[in-house]
Amino acid sequence: MIAKVDRTSCIGCGACASICPNVFEIDDEGIAIVTKNPVPVEEEENAQEAADGCPVEAITLE
Ligand code: SF4
Repeated sequence: MIAKVDRTSCIGCGACASICPNVFEIDDEGIAIVTKNPVPVEEEENAQEAADGCPVEAITLE
């Protein structure tokens, strides 16, 4: 699974980093980044939850 954050849409709410901190972090600009790609298998469920919980649907998983 590959995770992507649309940094134009991301509002930096921090939800993804809170739900799945091993894959998502908020960077210096206050916008989410993906720190592990591909997403480790054991984190796929959390990454899906993070994507589902993103208020602006900025996270895509492939
Ligand atoms: S949940 Fe969505 S809007 Fe919030 S920081 Fe993560 S990618 Fe950005």
